[in-house]
Parts: sequence; C-alpha cells; structure tokens
Amino acid sequence: MQRREFLGTLAASALIGCISGRAFANPPKDAKAVEALHTNWKEFLAAGTPVPAPTETVKRPNPEWRKLLSAQQYDVLREEGTERAGTSPLDGEKRAGVFVCAGCGLPLFTSAMKFNSGTGWPSFFTTIPGAMQTKTDYKIVFPRTEYHCARCGGHQGHVFDDGPPPTGKRYCNNGVALRFIPKDAKA
Ligand SMILES: [Zn+2]
Repeated sequence: MQRREFLGTLAASALIGCISGRAFANPPKDAKAVEALHTNWKEFLAAGTPVPAPTETVKRPNPEWRKLLSAQQYDVLREEGTERAGTSPLDGEKRAGVFVCAGCGLPLFTSAMKFNSGTGWPSFFTTIPGAMQTKTDYKIVFPRTEYHCARCGGHQGHVFDDGPPPTGKRYCNNGVALRFIPKDAKA
C-alpha cells in the first residue's frame, strides 16, 4: 500500500470511528437461528414490561424532548450526535434482557442479538423486526446508513456490513440512546 493511500485509510477510519477491531464472540450459527431470535424476542422481556408497537408513533416538539432527555441523550437521539467510544456501561452488558429506545421505550434489540465488536460501542448483528428505520447520511466523506427508532425517530447509530455471519450486519449503537431492562427485573 502506498504511504498516501495508507494515511488516507487511517484518516477515514478515524472519521468513521465505529471500526470493528475484535473477533465476534457469540454469533448465531445459521439464518434459521437468526429467524428464531426475531420470532422469540419477547422471551427476553421482563414480566410486565410495556411493549408499545413501532407503528404508534411518538412526535414531540424539540423543547419537550429537551425536558424529557438528558443533554447527552438529546444530543444523540435528536441531533444525531455520537457518544465517545468506551463510555457506555451497556457495551459490557451481558445479562439476558431487552434494549429499549431511551426516548420512547420501544424494544429495539435483545441481549441475544448483541456481540462484542471491540469498538467501544454496544453492537448488534440484527434488530427486533420493525423496530428501526434507516436513511443514508453524508456527514463524513462517504455515505453511511443511519438508523433510528421507528416509533419516535430517535437516532440510534449506523449499520455497517462487517458484522458476524450469517447476517453480516453490525449495528453500531450509542449506549446513551438505549435503556437496558434485564429479564429478571421486577415489574
Ligand atoms: Zn424511540
């Protein structure tokens, strides 16, 4: 690789931030196993957890969101900010349970969809069906796929094609945009 090309790659990596650096820990073995995670996701819910439908959309004016969210949550969810890598305790969360949107409580991922990407951001290889919508953003030099909560539109992260098989997807999520509800939590 030419030196200039190498430096260019380094710069691009720094810009993307969300670069995968470690081996995948616990991917499902085949497409059928992923399908099972999609159909059985409610098994990861704690008893009594409210489950809003992604179609019941939540729309609030920004001043209202400001009151409801912390400054950091607002920056990520409503302004598409990115938290610093390695700052979310949810990156190391290993208990069984469900990750819900910090804005509206919609279940987005189960613990069985999570893997250790080594990026410093909570990472998932698939989502709960219908939970997320995507759009292309051009905030850095090349296009990335942004994804957000289907219910409240809150920005969650970006999805990349370097995830573990069989999905090959890596949902690189801001921990601050999520709330974790362990399966054994009291209602
Ligand atoms: Zn939401």
